[in-house]
Amino acid sequence: MKRIHLVHTGGTLGMTEVEGTLQPGPFLARLASDVPELSRLATVDVEILMNKDSTEMVPADWDRIGGALAAKMADYDGFVVIHGTDTMAHTAAALSFSLRGLEKPVVLTGSQRPLRAIPTDGRTNLVAAVDLARRNIPEVTIFFGRQLLRGNRARKVSAERYDAFESPNYPPLGRVGLDVDLHPDLMRRPRGPFRHLPGFDPAVCYLPCWPGADATAVERAADAGVKVVVLGAYGVGNVPAAGGGWPAAIRKVTKRGVVALLVSQCGHGGVRPHLYEGGRAALSAGAVPGHDLTVETAVVKAMHCLGRGMAGEALREALGKNLVGELTPEPTGGGAVA
Ligand code: ASP
Repeated sequence: MKRIHLVHTGGTLGMTEVEGTLQPGPFLARLASDVPELSRLATVDVEILMNKDSTEMVPADWDRIGGALAAKMADYDGFVVIHGTDTMAHTAAALSFSLRGLEKPVVLTGSQRPLRAIPTDGRTNLVAAVDLARRNIPEVTIFFGRQLLRGNRARKVSAERYDAFESPNYPPLGRVGLDVDLHPDLMRRPRGPFRHLPGFDPAVCYLPCWPGADATAVERAADAGVKVVVLGAYGVGNVPAAGGGWPAAIRKVTKRGVVALLVSQCGHGGVRPHLYEGGRAALSAGAVPGHDLTVETAVVKAMHCLGRGMAGEALREALGKNLVGELTPEPTGGGAVA
């Protein structure tokens, strides 16, 4: 039997209702009796690393989770991380950057309803996650609903549906229904030996633009010590260029060594900033195109790169290129509207 290490970090799956509010409840004692079928799939060891509503997760928690997984990496065939849905995509992205050369599956899952509720999506998500963690999937993934998604491509898109996560810019790595359909051709293969690269610097902010938004917010963020401003541009990477406020703000912070990382505020697709004047102006002012990064992954990637001590040109280069399957670079020579 395969050996699976299950790390509990919190979230709705393990919560109980106390006077109308869901709160972290006792978990380990009940798991074997609540989901006895797990022991037919694998030998599952449970570690309660923390028991948090994922709203309360901070970057230091990503290092705790990464450290716990790295410490047991040699002892198990695969790993399941139970996590709240609110920031599951951020944690999955963080682990994808910090656990390099991964040869074994790390499957994050959770649920919209507690495991003990009737009905619940917790049971099916947990059973499928343990099943998937026995297989050859050398990536940090999220399993939720029916889909197995690359962790750094996933987003929470529904506060109520059981299939709460999507991967807007990369196909699902697998689907679980009557059969388990996996797509090994879409999966990454380990590059280099396994290593844990901890350290996330939170000096990052996300600023979307909207009609009438004040571009000086970009400078005020830099004044406050922010080193990477993830700019949520319209559509394919446009910021308001008429009047020059946004390009001027980007130019000023770039001169100070702050990176303006351009992502799309749309849920689907990436930036192709050369297509319109607003994107061209942002680029010539010094913005770095983030291609099809999700906002969640853009923010986490910036924290990772800063946390690894990157600055200047090395930081700009790392943010704009693919490190661990988190973005698809625009094909060179592109530019025509397809
Ligand atoms: N607030 C919860 C959390 O993210 C929601 C959930 O788990 O679905 O921890």
